[in-house]
Amino acid sequence: MTAKRALITGGAGFVGSWLAEALLERGWSVQVIDDLSTGSIENIEPLKADPRFSYVLDTVTNRSLMLELVDRADVVFHLAAAVGVRLIVEHPVRTIETNIQTTELILELCARKKRPILLASTSEVYGKLDKQTFHEEDDLVLGPTSRSRWCYASSKIIDEFLAQAYFTEKGLPTVTVRLFNTIGPRQTGRYGMVVPRFVEQALAGAPITVYGDGTQRRSFTWIGDVVDALIRLVEHPEASGRVFNVGHTRDISIRELAELVIRLTGSSSEIVNVPYDEAYDPGFEDMPRRLPDISRIEALIGYRPSLDLPEMLRRIIAV
Ligand code: UDP
Repeated sequence: MTAKRALITGGAGFVGSWLAEALLERGWSVQVIDDLSTGSIENIEPLKADPRFSYVLDTVTNRSLMLELVDRADVVFHLAAAVGVRLIVEHPVRTIETNIQTTELILELCARKKRPILLASTSEVYGKLDKQTFHEEDDLVLGPTSRSRWCYASSKIIDEFLAQAYFTEKGLPTVTVRLFNTIGPRQTGRYGMVVPRFVEQALAGAPITVYGDGTQRRSFTWIGDVVDALIRLVEHPEASGRVFNVGHTRDISIRELAELVIRLTGSSSEIVNVPYDEAYDPGFEDMPRRLPDISRIEALIGYRPSLDLPEMLRRIIAV
């Protein structure tokens, strides 16, 4: 594929700004739309000097604007979404509306203009699935609607169904990626993400807040690997109509993560356990483990995570 003009929704966010930079480095031109609800203008500040980069501060629900932006692009990367477990628990209405309405609109416009689209979904859709590794064809196991956490996974599942429906019914090339916990510089801890929170706490000498007993496990992936995978997927003709896990094959308990961050920062911080009820809402359910099966993306584009966790943390701490 020779596509060279990208539109990134949510392009001032953590993943979006890294993707914009990676595309520019590979010779693409990049348009970004972001309403700065969770993104930040500082994330794209260094890109503004590039003549192949442009940005609009508006919401993705601005239909006439979006029609024009989609028309000018060869490929759309749809990353705009409500993110962060804390934000989702606190603002379920915003989460559901943002995630579903924007995806509906973008898919409709992409179909109208015949523009391929990559949809960013999340490992959260696997929910409470109890397996060693999560495969794209596994069942999705969610909790009850009385627990607001699950509205995030539910809304993203609808988005995935929509993308799949546009592919099969209307022939629109859609690629869906399920991003597992992704980390790197510029990620903010404001919306709950554990690594920037722990690093910030450690550097400030403040207590490191481990939620629950800290035995829950996560795998963390370097943002550079993630954006590289997204670009290679949209450039691959056989990725269309499919869902791909993007993540790391090694996991760590959150307690061990806290200890590792303390060691790498040389911090004197102590670790404190915060009950889930206090950290989020009463009745909050956390996932005990979450590890991707990456055989599908590995087979298609040769994806392999390039960095181990200590190296990722060193790079984050160094910024
Ligand atoms: N977590 C924690 N302390 C924090 C923030 C998060 O112990 O200050 C835990 C959280 O409960 C979860 C894990 O770290 O078990 C990863 O949380 P994050 O919000 O980064 O991503 P999630 O995997 O929940 O989407």
